[in-house]
Amino acid sequence: MVRDKCRHLWNKTNLRDGFIVTENCYHCNKTRVYFSYEDAPPKDEYKEGEHYFNYAGSAQSMKFDLECEKCKTIVTFEERMGLMQCAGCDESCHLNILSKICEGQNIWVYAALAYKAGEEIDLSVDKLDVLTSHFTSRLRTPGKKILVVPGSLRKSPHTCRGEMLRDVGMLSLTPET
Ligand SMILES: [Zn+2]
Ligand SMILES: [Zn+2]
Ligand SMILES: [Zn+2]
Repeated sequence: MVRDKCRHLWNKTNLRDGFIVTENCYHCNKTRVYFSYEDAPPKDEYKEGEHYFNYAGSAQSMKFDLECEKCKTIVTFEERMGLMQCAGCDESCHLNILSKICEGQNIWVYAALAYKAGEEIDLSVDKLDVLTSHFTSRLRTPGKKILVVPGSLRKSPHTCRGEMLRDVGMLSLTPET
């Protein structure tokens, strides 16, 4: 981070509305995920290389960057799509194991799903740290924490299906007590 002395307090900035669009190639089942800024998700089928991508679903979402209200450092999240919890898909799913261990410590574990050019990538440690700090700071339950970990800890994007928290829904994470 830019200034080590600042105890950052991250707030959302540069909010952009749009859709998370999922597409599937009906030949090889390759999945593609991207963020669309259009008013409605595009549903056209198209060919790319040997793949034929078809619209497979979408969800309303929001992109944002985080800015420290004290030192004005901005961390951009162009590549981040959402956060998900593992609902206990498999004993060997690392996200599942981590969630179970952290449960006893009052920590909710979320995997950050990020995509670049349609392919899933992991966010840098710095960015995961900023997300962890931002979402934890928004919780109002004393002692409760959120830990944001790399999406690749999931056993598989196809089997690890848990609760997906899109950014719009993040507000519901904050218990109004
Ligand atoms: Zn700061
Ligand atoms: Zn294909
Ligand atoms: Zn899982």
